[in-house]
Amino acid sequence: MVKIYFLGLGGWASNPFIGHTSFLLASKTTKLLVDAGEGTYSSLRKCTPYDIGDVDYIFVTHIHGDHMLGIPTILQHAKRLGVKVRIVGLEGVYEALRKLLESVGISKYINVVDFIKIEEMGRVELGDVGVTTIAAHHTVPSVMIKLDVDGKCVAYSGDSSPNETFFNQINGCDVLIHEASVSDELRDEAMIHGHSSVGDVVVFAEKSGIKHLILVHRGVKPLIIRRTSLPIVIVYKCDVVDI
Ligand SMILES: [Zn+2]
Repeated sequence: MVKIYFLGLGGWASNPFIGHTSFLLASKTTKLLVDAGEGTYSSLRKCTPYDIGDVDYIFVTHIHGDHMLGIPTILQHAKRLGVKVRIVGLEGVYEALRKLLESVGISKYINVVDFIKIEEMGRVELGDVGVTTIAAHHTVPSVMIKLDVDGKCVAYSGDSSPNETFFNQINGCDVLIHEASVSDELRDEAMIHGHSSVGDVVVFAEKSGIKHLILVHRGVKPLIIRRTSLPIVIVYKCDVVDI
């Protein structure tokens, strides 16, 4: 059984009650935390039975603050617990993290990090989770991921405008967790900023034969989904989805 704990669902400027998009994928042997914006440590403790010492890897899709500003606090707790934190990301993530820790006065905490560098197009094994990375269409280098675990497939967009390469790779996946920052009337603006509107996500997900769609990285306004035959799973912060 694979569980996905939703620790946050919003984008950077989003409804403050839903936090920043982050989830913990828990398989039999591996706990993989994906993205870590502000408040992620607090959500990990509130929404899961785990502490940071139980988390095997933190995967950071890109350097934007809503995806990594929670890491200094996570490292504080890791140091308190006497554990190291394996952070997985593009080379730029390590550089950004080093500068972030320096700017908040804890540059030495980089020693708490074991960094695993990934490529924009590649594959890495993290415990029993196979992670395929696909370069996103975003304003900074960013990856979209396909997670293969226990015979299941979970795909996650990070931030990206619609990316056909990604959708071709994730055909038939059990769950797609995709950014949908805005409803369709703001589609053009979303594209400029390397984001997706809900309508685009739905159309591509339908074509890819996705079994369940979960919309995250939501903004301040509620999303309007006009029509789809695709099962859309509505999740709230701290919800757990079994796959
Ligand atoms: Zn971003």
